[in-house]
Order: sequence, then structure tokens, then C-alpha cells
Amino acid sequence: MSILEVKNVGKRFGGLQALSDVNLSVKENSVHAIIGPNGAGKSTLLNCLVGKLIPDTGSVMFDGQSVLGRAPYEINQMGISRVFQTPEIFGDLTVLENMMIPCLAKRDGAFELNAIASVMGQRDIIDKAEHMLVEMNMADKRHMHAASLSRGDKRRLEIGMCLSQEPRLLLLDEPTAGMARADTNNTIDLLKQISDQRDITIAIIEHDMHVVFSLANRITVLAQGTPLVEDNPENIRGNPKVREAYLGE
Ligand code: ADP
Ligand code: MG
Repeated sequence: MSILEVKNVGKRFGGLQALSDVNLSVKENSVHAIIGPNGAGKSTLLNCLVGKLIPDTGSVMFDGQSVLGRAPYEINQMGISRVFQTPEIFGDLTVLENMMIPCLAKRDGAFELNAIASVMGQRDIIDKAEHMLVEMNMADKRHMHAASLSRGDKRRLEIGMCLSQEPRLLLLDEPTAGMARADTNNTIDLLKQISDQRDITIAIIEHDMHVVFSLANRITVLAQGTPLVEDNPENIRGNPKVREAYLGE
């Protein structure tokens, strides 16, 4: 049963056909990696899934409902949460305050940043945020400013912020980009744990083959805006077309 169905999606930027005839089917509870060289259209595709871009052609169905034409916050409320290429956390707020933002958004459907000040006394939000920090193994860091976290912990916090919205599909765009190996390995372990323990589907765009082959049970290779092949990791590793187009062999 697939939770996400992308059919014949195309997207053009001026003279550049960034995506053409993209078909992608993501099975519920799988970890599906989308790989491909720089400029292949991976982030563009992700942007089409979350409402940041509207494709010129094709359809995107999530759990049987079209996401096209919906605003990003509506798509988020449908159950799709996204981790961006660069961490989107508030450096001046503490780890706990950061975590309270999506908890508040989940409860109230929307939030304003200055609502954080008035929410400080709201026990249910604080409890939920603290609970999430325990799950993320970050409870001891809850009073630190988010800006002072390591790169890996910033990512961990951000992933936790997404999970507190209880998404059914978690999208990640190169979550380990620019990370040292130790932080990368921590992120791999965290994503494995999330996938094992939660009723969640993960779609991950990733450049680092170590991350891809550690996590994915399905891989789509995108090249020049169109899927080259979709298969399980073993077959992708052995596919001569993939080795040539992507692994550079
Ligand atoms: P990837 O994430 O696989 O590296 P992108 O989806 O970011 O690739 O980009 C695909 C192609 O589309 C690239 O050639 C890029 O320069 C181009 N592109 C991406 N976003 C825009 C935009 N907003 N305007 C114009 N061109 C864009
Ligand atoms: Mg990209």
C-alpha cells in the first residue's frame, strides 16, 4: 500500500526542465531514498510534495488525497512533515522553547512566535515538549540555547520538532549535509530508531551513500529530472546504469 503517489510530475524553471515525467510510489512504513547527482531535481521534487512549488504537470496524492494547490501548512496538517537542507530552528530560544513551537502549532492549528511567551505557563505544551525531548535523548540540553548545539544535535532537535506534529510521512532533504562522521552516524541511528518504533514513512534525499545504504529499503535514482530506476538497495548497488550515472564508475 503506497502512502505517496507521484504521477507524471513536470516542473520547468524558464528554459530549464527541472523535472519531467516523474513517477514515484512510496510504500507505507518504508524508508525510501531519492538519490542522484547535484542538479538532478531532488529538492525541486520535494518542494512539489510540500506545496512550496506547484508542478506544471502531473499529480501528487498523499493517502488518497491530492496535495496540489494546497498551502504548505495545509499539507503539513494532512500529515507530511519536512526537514530542510539547513536546520530551521530558532537559535535565540532554548531547546525546550523550540520544541514547544510545533507542540503549540499541533494543538492550536497555527501559532505566532510571540505566543511562545504566553505559552510558558501552559503545562500541557511544556509536558509534551519535554516528553519529546526525552524521546530524542535531549532532555539534559533543554535549557541550552539552540544556537549552541552541535550540528548533529540541531538536526536531532529539528527532527524531534517535526515528529511532535505526529506526521505519517517525514521528508528529509540531505539531513547529514556538512556533518562530521560521528554526527552523521548519530543521525542514521536516530532515523533507524524512528522508523522502527513509529508508525511512520520516511522519504529521504541523500547524497551520502553510507547513509542511503544504512537506512533505505527502497531507492529511486533521479538523473536530469527524471527517475532512472527504482529498486531495492542490493539491485541499485549492482545496477550498471546507476554506477555509471551516479556512482561515477
Ligand atoms: P538537486 O536537489 O537534485 O541538487 P534541484 O532540485 O535543487 O537539484 O535543482 C534542479 C535544477 O533546477 C538545477 O539545475 C537548479 O539550478 C534548478 N533550479 C532549482 N530551483 C530553481 C529555481 N527556483 N529557479 C530556477 N532554477 C531552479
Ligand atoms: Mg538539493
